[in-house]
Amino acid sequence: MLEIKNLHARVAETGTEILRGVDLTVKPGEIAAIMGPNGSGKSTLSYIISGREDYEVTEGDILYNGESILEMDPAERAAAGVFLAFQYPLEIPGVATMTFLRTALNSQRKARGEAELTTPEFMRRVKDAAGELKIDFNMLKRPLNVGFSGGEKKRAEILQMSLLEPKLCVMDETDSGLDIDALRIVADGVNALRAPERAFLVITHYQRLLEHIVPDTVHVLYKGRIIRTGGKELALELEANGYADVIGEAA
Ligand code: ADP
Ligand code: MG
Ligand code: MG
Repeated sequence: MLEIKNLHARVAETGTEILRGVDLTVKPGEIAAIMGPNGSGKSTLSYIISGREDYEVTEGDILYNGESILEMDPAERAAAGVFLAFQYPLEIPGVATMTFLRTALNSQRKARGEAELTTPEFMRRVKDAAGELKIDFNMLKRPLNVGFSGGEKKRAEILQMSLLEPKLCVMDETDSGLDIDALRIVADGVNALRAPERAFLVITHYQRLLEHIVPDTVHVLYKGRIIRTGGKELALELEANGYADVIGEAA
């Protein structure tokens, strides 16, 4: 589903190279975790997959379902089923969460050449998704993320993800900002949305999140390269021994 080949990328403005040859394959249905010390390039990798313009790919490729997405803009990638969860959620004063969700869903449909949802159809979908994720419907009447608790922000994010029905979910979670309740919300959401045709790339600094989202594969990113790949036990090993051993072996 996702095949990253020898990806080199730099910051467009300064030319600073951040990714230095990332190789990564994610299959449909897989939950792949990317771990690594701060500053390794984890967030950069997620931005580049989603198509953010501040970065330049200088070498290598990103294939999604066998085709390069490097020439696609973020909206085209989203329409093709790539979803990026935001590490720092956008606050939109004056726009009810429900309205935001409807706009997001309809712009995705438009990009796919599909008709806008009618109000009753949208309401039915949002109610179903909110119910499944145990989200209080009243929350959706409030402006997106404004005054939301950490947990509510995560609920809104997971709900958005659920409505957009992505095929590849890239979730960059700086767990440092997540309390245990928010962590559970993310984990429960991912587990509820797990499906044979849907893959997750869960980016995390800590093993903690992976106690709740059990990954199929764990990759360690360090200085812009994947230096180690393993199964879920690799996360436990990193938790017990820190990154030093893995970094030492790779050096
Ligand atoms: P991580 O998410 O693993 O902590 P990041 O992707 O945020 O790592 O950052 C990787 C490295 O790239 C860091 O050294 C960071 O300072 C640098 N970096 C990221 N974005 C920029 C930018 N826009 N300009 C300059 N340096 C950047
Ligand atoms: Mg960081
Ligand atoms: Mg980061």
